[in-house]
Amino acid sequence: MYALPPGDAGGGRKGEIPMEIARKGYKLLVGGAWVDGTETMPVIDKYTGETIGDVPVASREMTDRAIGAAREAFPAWSRTPAHRRFRILEKASQLLAKHQEEIAATICREAGKAWKYSVGEVSRAVETFQFSAEEAKRIHGETVPMDASTAGEGRMGFYLRCPVGVVAAITPFNFPLNLVAHKVGPGLAAGNTLVLKPASTTPLTAIRLAEILEEAGVPGGVFNVIVGSGGTVGEWITTDPRVAKISFTGSPPVGEGIIRKAGLKKVTMELGNNSGTIIEPDADLDAAVPRCVVSAFANSGQVCISLQRLYLHKAVAREFTSRFLEATSRLKVGNPLEKDCDVGPMIDEGEARRAEAWIREAVAEGAKVLAGGKREGRVLQPTVIANARAEMKVMCQEAFAPLVCLYEYEKFEEAVRMVNDSPYGLQAGIYTNDIRKALHAVDRIDTGGVMVNDTSIFRVDHMPYGGNKMSGLGREGVRFAVEEMTNIKMVVIKP
Ligand code: NAP
Repeated sequence: MYALPPGDAGGGRKGEIPMEIARKGYKLLVGGAWVDGTETMPVIDKYTGETIGDVPVASREMTDRAIGAAREAFPAWSRTPAHRRFRILEKASQLLAKHQEEIAATICREAGKAWKYSVGEVSRAVETFQFSAEEAKRIHGETVPMDASTAGEGRMGFYLRCPVGVVAAITPFNFPLNLVAHKVGPGLAAGNTLVLKPASTTPLTAIRLAEILEEAGVPGGVFNVIVGSGGTVGEWITTDPRVAKISFTGSPPVGEGIIRKAGLKKVTMELGNNSGTIIEPDADLDAAVPRCVVSAFANSGQVCISLQRLYLHKAVAREFTSRFLEATSRLKVGNPLEKDCDVGPMIDEGEARRAEAWIREAVAEGAKVLAGGKREGRVLQPTVIANARAEMKVMCQEAFAPLVCLYEYEKFEEAVRMVNDSPYGLQAGIYTNDIRKALHAVDRIDTGGVMVNDTSIFRVDHMPYGGNKMSGLGREGVRFAVEEMTNIKMVVIKP
């Protein structure tokens, strides 16, 4: 997902980027105590390869303790009045804002995200926590007209929304702060306790968030953060019967595996996509071209709603392509810590090699690289591909890399059909000023969101957000995450 606040690229900020993000030794937060592990794992700067932190790896026993602490803390936290939960979450939001640059530097280094987008991510997390604070005050049920049934005559009915208990949050590397915030903020607002397992490649931001939550007044045991691989810590959390809900963001195969093992736990799944956007002949190209460039290449395309398939009407395809290539050629690729960097490294070299291999495979099958295609270590140049066919990996699978395929079409209905021709269904975009076409797209495209006069990548943090088909189950966006993290309790009173 990506939406920079309009006009706020972060790159124009005054002052130097803090290079020394923190200490090298980190601890995990378990039951209100900062603890070491018997083993540690290094976290590296994704551009330089330098080790920027050593993080304890949670053992089975530590994982058990974290879940136990969350379980123990649940009765008191779930009864903590809404106004107090509001104040704690609001304070967390303020502290994130206060430490914005330092946290952005951590994101920049551990995720390899360009500075302006790292700053943008912290701004968004500030809002996500503010929305969560506000939401804490308006969690309520409603009355049910019992006498609509003859059997209900004379009874009064209403339902309450109750916290579910321990929520396990399992999060990906690409938004190490805001996607954690989307689980922790609503979870705490609703009165749940949490155990967070961040991505192994980007745990430092999550640990920093734990410090901030502690400072904001979250009581011991209510929020726990443990680090370790998905195959160990992730699986232990998934199968633990004390966990009431798993809120997962990540890849579809891992999500599917979690569902298989989770049994009857509640689950929310925020998964991948190969997002499409349509450019109709009446589109405002001045707006569409730069927005499409950002949508394809922000965070090196490692965004779940990154623009991967761009359908261009043949009447504008030539002009759009030439302007798109020109704008792409102006992107600054390299060190994410440089304030004017647009595209940094990918998360690891293996992923960059995989994307490069997909590009080569597409070329071998007849596609043409119009820009980029070259890789150096983890850095893949922003890549524009023409003549790709629907069955090529660069089109039909999630690329999660700085690459976009341009596809020319003649009929609008054909473009809508092609956007839908995907196992995924997270978000899609269409540029048109014809309301009938916009409404047709809204009606026919099977995704969790359709953006008109924007690309698939648009998101603000209070809107309902989530996917259809292989893109997931349930919705996030603070109010909607609260709904997913609460149980309905029906009360019927017979006087
Ligand atoms: P990933 O490989 O699926 O990992 C996500 C998280 O799951 C990590 O914390 C990972 O731990 C953990 N995990 C791995 N195997 C596990 C297991 N067997 N049991 C429990 N947990 C396990 O995803 P990623 O590479 O970090 O992120 C990229 C994917 O996330 C893309 O598909 C992207 O589209 C998707 N995504 C979706 C959204 C959305 O809102 N829909 C947003 C962002 C990203 P380790 O790090 O230790 O492997």
